Amino acid sequence: MKHRIPFNKPFIAGKELYYIAQAVTLGNIGGDGQFTKSCSRLLEDRFHIPRVMLTPSCTAALEMAAMLLNLGPGDEVILPSFTFVSTANAFVRLGARPVFVDIRPDTLNMDETLLEQAITERTRAIFPVHYAGIGCAMDSIMAIARKHNLRVVEDAAQGVNSFYNRRALGAIGDLGAYSFHETKNYICGEGGALCINDPTLIERAEIIRDKGTNRQQFFRGEVDKYSWVDVGSSYVPSEICTAFLFAQLELLDEIRTRRRSKYDYYHERFQDFDQAGLLKRPTIPANCEANYHLYYVILPTAKTRDALMEHLNESGIHAIFHYVPLHGSTMGRQFGYQPGDLPITEDLSARLLRLPLYYEITPAEQDQVVSAVRRFLLG
Ligand SMILES: *Cc1c(COP(=O)(O)O)cnc(C)c1O
Repeated sequence: MKHRIPFNKPFIAGKELYYIAQAVTLGNIGGDGQFTKSCSRLLEDRFHIPRVMLTPSCTAALEMAAMLLNLGPGDEVILPSFTFVSTANAFVRLGARPVFVDIRPDTLNMDETLLEQAITERTRAIFPVHYAGIGCAMDSIMAIARKHNLRVVEDAAQGVNSFYNRRALGAIGDLGAYSFHETKNYICGEGGALCINDPTLIERAEIIRDKGTNRQQFFRGEVDKYSWVDVGSSYVPSEICTAFLFAQLELLDEIRTRRRSKYDYYHERFQDFDQAGLLKRPTIPANCEANYHLYYVILPTAKTRDALMEHLNESGIHAIFHYVPLHGSTMGRQFGYQPGDLPITEDLSARLLRLPLYYEITPAEQDQVVSAVRRFLLG
């Protein structure tokens, strides 16, 4: 069904095709050319990350993270169930077991007060997810991880250019993963990055990313031949994609400022509904700076959410739920989970509705969304 107001419309900054033409003219459309290096450097400088390696997706970056930490059979990894499948697949594909914890009702992020009771002698890592680009309680999570000698991988797919206590999301854990998928804030179709905050992991990350070879060391003249030295895969993106991405990253702050005005527009117009208890608006904690990735509302019941979603879709407005919790999925049940195990996750995911939010949505379009919600709730 074609909606009059789509949920998302990929934003084109302007110079994407020009930079792609430049990459083609320079004669390097393979990996790790000028644009890939420029994107990495820009992200490293802006977010104070020792090393950023671009990847073909955030999924690929999370897979690299799990390989770098040698996660495998017998290991347990703690993560929220309220997330996208890639957070879990990253280590489940290596044989490690997911241990799901419930979320906080305010940010819908992993509830850090439930972390310690989920730790066993098999726990090796924590994969927090910054939902909607709003930071998890990273100070507590890092303190618990250090106390129990666990690694932390931030799934910052939605959190590019967001901050927690003035530190960039993705720059706080041992590793972080960004997404540049076309549904995110900064895009190149499909793309991602691995943020490496523990410098001891850099050398092996280069090898895993380049098919398990030491080709990067060869390029730098550190070895006289390159060969197969470790397990690896093909995690280097094409310059065609990174040239596109560079045009987007040049507008890092402009894109956030524009999205903020769209977010605030909804937020102000739903204030009276929130006060009247007809819906609940998102919360951004005082120590978090958001990138305004999503605008969602929480309805009083699952039935109201489903009916409002249908009402909006019939009005030509594409509004979408988020997520089917992982623990209740076919795969989640194979790990012994059942409905009822994570009550807050189950309750809120059944009542959450994401509204259209993109760079080019106009106030008139947002007014139509607000009016459609009002008409429905005031019935
Ligand atoms: C989008 C997303 C991913 C996957 O990103 P890709 O770049 O599409 O692989 C992973 N985790 C979360 C939380 C996401 O929102």
